[in-house]
Amino acid sequence: MYDVIIVGGGPAGLTAGIYCGRAGLAVLVLEGGAFGGQMTLSSEIENYPAFPQGISGEELSSLMRGQAERLGAELRREKAKTIDLKTKTVVTRKGEYRAKNIILAMGASPRPLGVPGENELRGAGVSYCAVCDGGFFKNKTVAVIGGGDTAVHDCEYLSRICEKVYLIHRRDRLRGGEGALKRVTLPNVEILWNTRVAEFVGENGALTGLRLEGGGTLPVSAAFVAVGTSPNTGAVEGQLELQNGYVPANERMETAIPGVYAVGDLRVKELRQIVTAASDGAVAAACITGCEK
Ligand code: NAP
Repeated sequence: MYDVIIVGGGPAGLTAGIYCGRAGLAVLVLEGGAFGGQMTLSSEIENYPAFPQGISGEELSSLMRGQAERLGAELRREKAKTIDLKTKTVVTRKGEYRAKNIILAMGASPRPLGVPGENELRGAGVSYCAVCDGGFFKNKTVAVIGGGDTAVHDCEYLSRICEKVYLIHRRDRLRGGEGALKRVTLPNVEILWNTRVAEFVGENGALTGLRLEGGGTLPVSAAFVAVGTSPNTGAVEGQLELQNGYVPANERMETAIPGVYAVGDLRVKELRQIVTAASDGAVAAACITGCEK
């Protein structure tokens, strides 16, 4: 029996682990993928305080992970198959864990574009992580789809290793406005405004191009989809009321179920950033340690 089980080892979960561990609680952090979560997909993080030169997502993840372990959190690389919020029981392939409190920190995952060919060509030219897969397309022509910060980041990153990068955006303005536009104004980046992809086209099981709405096919070796993220809340669906798939919680990160907290990107909130995820984790842990006294 743990005091706290944290499901998810991104910045929210790891920070909750740091605070719970430091407070002397028996705390388990479960992570099915890589500790650090979405952070690990960023080649450079420029806006996390105290790293004025920027820091790679891998490095920041590793620092947070090490800190949580040093302060007493138990970290296990196990995916939560089921989470019973009433009995506070989490089942993984390796075992069943129980706790007095559960912190939901499963974060969010890249959203698919939802057009034909996407599932078939996923991993064969269609990717959701430029930092992970960009290296396979050195000196090739690739496309990034989206107009938010992820698309801008991916575009900048790929422009350094690919021959040409098309940035395909459905509107005539990037979410980050002029600042974002400046970052992608590069000699080998061409922006296709007001353009939508209708189909991922492949030959012999590999992506060869993008059919665009309104006609025409753009030949590319890879397409990086950056059209936002969806919350990883499938495991708690039906147990909690969700808003568009996100978990509502109050300022103390408490959900509608006593002893169940929601932190980070899966929570209903305005700003989903590493620093706000970390903040959520600290608040939930402080609430639990306050309650423990
Ligand atoms: P996002 O801000 O939600 O942007 C998604 C983009 O995809 C938007 O431009 C949107 O177009 C477009 N889009 C959505 N659905 C689409 C569809 N069906 N077809 C075509 N285009 C579609 O997502 P994000 O860029 O992943 O960013 C998520 C959060 O992480 C944001 O808060 C962002 O600031 C943050 N982030 C920060 C950094 C950093 O370094 N600080 C890096 C990456 C992400 P519209 O603009 O027309 O809606």
